[in-house]
Amino acid sequence: MNQRISILGAQESGIGAAVLAKALGMEVFVSDGGQPKPRFLEDLEHLGVPYETGSHTMPRILEADLVVISPGIPTEAPVAQAVLQKGIPLISELEFAGRHTSAPIVAITGSNGKTTTTTLTHRILRDGGLDAGLCGNIGRSFARMVAEEPHDWYVVEVSSFQLDHIVYFRPHIAVLLNIYENHLNRYGGDIRRYAASKFRIAMNQGPEDYFVYCADSPLLLEEMANHRFRSTLVPFSLTEKPDSQVYIQNHSIMIHLNKKLAVSAKKEKLPLDALKLKGNHNLHNAMAAAVVGRLVDIRKENIRQSLEEFESMEHRLEPVRTVNGVEYINDSKATNVNAVWFALESMHKPVVWIVGGVDKGNDYGMILPLVKQKVKAVVMLGKDIAKIQDAFRGAVKQMAHAEDMAAAVRMAGELANSGDAVLLSPACASFDLFESYEERGNVFRAEVEQVQQVAR
Ligand code: ADP
Repeated sequence: MNQRISILGAQESGIGAAVLAKALGMEVFVSDGGQPKPRFLEDLEHLGVPYETGSHTMPRILEADLVVISPGIPTEAPVAQAVLQKGIPLISELEFAGRHTSAPIVAITGSNGKTTTTTLTHRILRDGGLDAGLCGNIGRSFARMVAEEPHDWYVVEVSSFQLDHIVYFRPHIAVLLNIYENHLNRYGGDIRRYAASKFRIAMNQGPEDYFVYCADSPLLLEEMANHRFRSTLVPFSLTEKPDSQVYIQNHSIMIHLNKKLAVSAKKEKLPLDALKLKGNHNLHNAMAAAVVGRLVDIRKENIRQSLEEFESMEHRLEPVRTVNGVEYINDSKATNVNAVWFALESMHKPVVWIVGGVDKGNDYGMILPLVKQKVKAVVMLGKDIAKIQDAFRGAVKQMAHAEDMAAAVRMAGELANSGDAVLLSPACASFDLFESYEERGNVFRAEVEQVQQVAR
């Protein structure tokens, strides 16, 4: 008899799992308690997979031999609990896809920087001549790629929610970029549980695998002590430390891998003068991607070239335009205070900062010193501004309130002088005024394009 599989959630991850399950000849049922976008349902119609939306029919779901849970559904949700109580294996789409490919996997996780590093790593592998697919949290799901477009290598962006439900998932190279206090609502407010979930990325690795991690992230380092590793550890950091194998010196990435590694144990130098990505956080991302490149034996010269050619990513400190001497920068993806910290730290001009949206419990205290140092004026966007006002009232000279993006860009332009930067780095989710951070960034970009050059 065919294996029966129930899939919870009908977004990219759930649909990817359905595509793969169908290709494997399984009997598939998809259940989504909400209303997924029509394009996902069209995919299911096209596949001929039965599905339901708006509620979960438990008896039907529980007929399965295996259940795949989408990352948007918490383990505590009644539907997931019922599956576990019945003793049916509950796995993530990441685990499911990993079971059906024997190609080596580079898996990248962390609180911030995943998309940038995954994209850059993929670029390095691809430019270096490997047949590598880019998937996971970014664009196409891993399962869909395994089913529709198999590759020799996979570079996968991984979230902690996907890692919560792995069993055997074993990346050849696992990268952990950092751990900050994001998403704590899904982990009962417990940073230890959130951190432990990130470390699951290395739990099935063996001696022939690598665990690449950032040695500058305090929470990450604290949690390291609670884990045992069978894989080879490859730490990277901005400064040379006794155990660091990848670090920055004289505007170059230095790679000095442990002698027992198969690839070169020579000290190698990758000059960074032409790196277009800005900010220390991107040095971390570049180091991580570069060392993955070396671990899979891509030539140093090729890695350097890929790094140099990599433009900034959309909505992530993306330079939009300079007009009237003012540089407009779109960092709409900065949906938490940590991301703003890195954005401000990378600024070398006086900043007019556009901030605001739906506050997910922000503590602005950690960025107060940087705001005092770098920000000349604040434009608060949206309705939810009381907390921002209270946090920065004493720290900046000018504060303005804008109801929408058009007003925000106009006010910011008025507050800025030639030589300043206008930075959209909201520290908040976008759902008050926009559908997504992408839409927010696109609207910002469109407004900036409208800014008139003033005759001097
Ligand atoms: P993610 O996919 O993890 O959300 P992104 O690559 O999309 O991360 O970057 C999101 C934001 O996080 C960026 O706009 C930047 O401000 C910040 N960021 C990027 N890389 C790092 C890093 N290594 N450390 C800290 N913050 C980072």
